[in-house]
Amino acid sequence: MSMKRVLLLLPTTGYRNNDFLAAARKLGVEIVPAGNTCHQLAPSWGLAPIMALHFDRPAQAAQTVLREMNGIPDAVLAVDDSGVELAALLSERLGLPGNPARAVRRVRDKLAFRQLLQEHEFRCPGFRHLPSGEDPRERLAELEFPVVVKARRLSASRGVVRADDPQALVRAVNWVRAIQLRADRDAQHLGLILEDFIPGREYALEGSLQRGELSIVALFDKPDPLDGPYFEETLYITPSRLPQALQDRIHQEVARACRAAGLVTGPVHAEVRVNGQGIWILEVAARSIGGLCARALDHLLGMSLEELILRQALAEPLASLPVAGEAAGVMMIPIPRRGIYRGLDGLAAAQSVPGITGVAMTVEPGQIIAPPPDGASYLGFLFARAASPAEAETALRIAHGLLRFDIRAEYPATEARAIERS
Ligand code: ADP
Repeated sequence: MSMKRVLLLLPTTGYRNNDFLAAARKLGVEIVPAGNTCHQLAPSWGLAPIMALHFDRPAQAAQTVLREMNGIPDAVLAVDDSGVELAALLSERLGLPGNPARAVRRVRDKLAFRQLLQEHEFRCPGFRHLPSGEDPRERLAELEFPVVVKARRLSASRGVVRADDPQALVRAVNWVRAIQLRADRDAQHLGLILEDFIPGREYALEGSLQRGELSIVALFDKPDPLDGPYFEETLYITPSRLPQALQDRIHQEVARACRAAGLVTGPVHAEVRVNGQGIWILEVAARSIGGLCARALDHLLGMSLEELILRQALAEPLASLPVAGEAAGVMMIPIPRRGIYRGLDGLAAAQSVPGITGVAMTVEPGQIIAPPPDGASYLGFLFARAASPAEAETALRIAHGLLRFDIRAEYPATEARAIERS
């Protein structure tokens, strides 16, 4: 093939920048990099001078790209959620295949997405918008506890808290507002959502849209219950152990949501809950799975998910997706508490657990970490492969049990005294 060019939108603290760049090298694709308002990217990724853009101001960022870029690329891709709206807008402006920017914007806004679900008669929790500055106690008459308080535009369960009574609601709202302010000052005015808590088990669908048709890359069970009050993701295991008929219904429901939203192409990541009433779509995102979780799929796909995404974006021929013969799983290692990460013990023992194929720590010693709803970074990932989903899950649980993390208080007594004296 002639050398194809892809404009790649790289987040500042992206976990998968390297995996996308590696896939591009493997395919002989030239990458034109653009970074999210970041100047550190260029040296650390060893890339040519990089365009610095505000991904969250897509109209302005698109103009910068159109002005500064030489020639038209063959595709525009975003590594993660932060760049999907800009990628869609640029694809529109450049006449390249992509999702309508409007559709991507709508699914990224948790309030607009709930409205969309309601309009199209999906099963949807009751929800209300809580504008910034508004007192949640004025809404008590409308609420039935427990409720879930969430920021309108954050991801990875950041700023998502369950509240079981009015006092907890006030605390949760104040907390989520503070998190939103720190995480995304531009989004502060968007306010929060208060929605009914949906009990049930949770599943994640990793899919791929081509000309509006959704195919499943993997359906993951999340065997750890996610009942709150905080929603830290841990285990993802595929293939799902749900009955095939129910898996098919999840597929159909997510496909219908993509159609309703107007998404037509590229990766899709959806979160659904299942209970006695049926299938509830929590989220549909026009991106692939977050963190390093995609690596759990390498073996099942026979290539990295990033390579699959690049190939599909460039309309490179693909054998049909392989039917998984094996089970795979990933654990997003839970963050035991807030503090300064110093290191860990038990790595070698964890790595030698049968079925474990990798341990990737993504936190640096010295870094401050915090579990959701506060934290924004993952501690690390455990990967497993086994003959069955149950064995993959067991391997991950055993390996995790062997790890000991050294996490210190943010201000050890001596440092605190030094600060007082200074
Ligand atoms: P994010 O984009 O941060 O993942 P979500 O809205 O998907 O935000 O919420 C994160 C997690 O919080 C979900 O995966 C789910 O476990 C839990 N959650 C969110 N909304 C609800 C709800 N209405 N009922 C029950 N659990 C919820």
